[in-house]
Amino acid sequence: MRAAVLYGPGDVRVEEVGDLVPGPGEIVVRTLAAFTCGTDRKVVKRGYHAKMLKPPCVFGHEASGEVAAVGRGVTAFQPGDRVVAANSAPCGVCRQCARDRESLCEDLLFWNGTFADAYLVPARVVAKNVLPLGGVAPEDAAMAEPLACCVKGVQEAGVREGDRVLVIGAGPIGLMLVRLCALKSARVTAAARRPEALVAAKAHGAHEVVGIGSSKGGLVLGGMVEPGFDIIFDTGGAAETASLAIRAAGRGGVVNLFAGCPAGTRVEVDVTRVHYEEIRIHGTFHHTPAAFRESFRLIASGAVEPSKFVTSRKTLEELPESLIHPAVGVLKTLVMF
Ligand SMILES: [Zn+2]
Ligand SMILES: [Zn+2]
Repeated sequence: MRAAVLYGPGDVRVEEVGDLVPGPGEIVVRTLAAFTCGTDRKVVKRGYHAKMLKPPCVFGHEASGEVAAVGRGVTAFQPGDRVVAANSAPCGVCRQCARDRESLCEDLLFWNGTFADAYLVPARVVAKNVLPLGGVAPEDAAMAEPLACCVKGVQEAGVREGDRVLVIGAGPIGLMLVRLCALKSARVTAAARRPEALVAAKAHGAHEVVGIGSSKGGLVLGGMVEPGFDIIFDTGGAAETASLAIRAAGRGGVVNLFAGCPAGTRVEVDVTRVHYEEIRIHGTFHHTPAAFRESFRLIASGAVEPSKFVTSRKTLEELPESLIHPAVGVLKTLVMF
């Protein structure tokens, strides 16, 4: 079978690798659709992922496909079933799992390898985090993982009808958050630098869009935006955007630092506002099995349409170039098999 193998920074080669054989509890899935995400681009740029990937290795984690083989003991799935597997599963027994904080599981099990003709899903994920596609198209189902992170973020921020929500950044994650908040009947403002991104945000349900500009004190929202948002999501993943998010919070505001920043990133916070205005600052990392199920339900029901996030289609052979030199403005790239 073919697989895109990561060798180092900017070095990805599509080559023949050995066929996969499922061990006990595992399944091998023939890939039907796979998506690229920001993490993949970062991984290719750096040539590794500190927690998950040591080159040479296969990578990619958003996909769906058809079960090709099942290992000993697997009864829930059989060859021919179409499935979508989350890219992780919590242990269910550690202290964090017991506290219902499965995304913080002390033994969170990740797997990778969807940029290939087939991929192997570990036993724990098969047991906890694989869903049958039913009638859902594979290229729609493959978006369940990134959407699950957004579902979890929107739940944890407590978005409600009528809330004034600000989403900073209009990449795929920003646009998914816009869509999910619009589904909650919140009043969504999207902020981004590129005018095309703002057009996309409108199309995904933003009521209002604003540009982001720079001033001496940091980033600022352009236009005539009323200050004081109820809920703010930062998908920028930088000190400047996190600072903008915190400053944009109104009384009782909730700031969700959705995107991960580089280690050691620091932001100044006026803690008097945190106290007197009861501003909450929190983060959302990854997803949980429940968020993954809810994400898939939203896709299956048509409430979220993954095709609207796909702006580019590539074959496996074309994938390395599109990850090494990503085109500006591309949201999701669908890798077709
Ligand atoms: Zn992803
Ligand atoms: Zn755990």
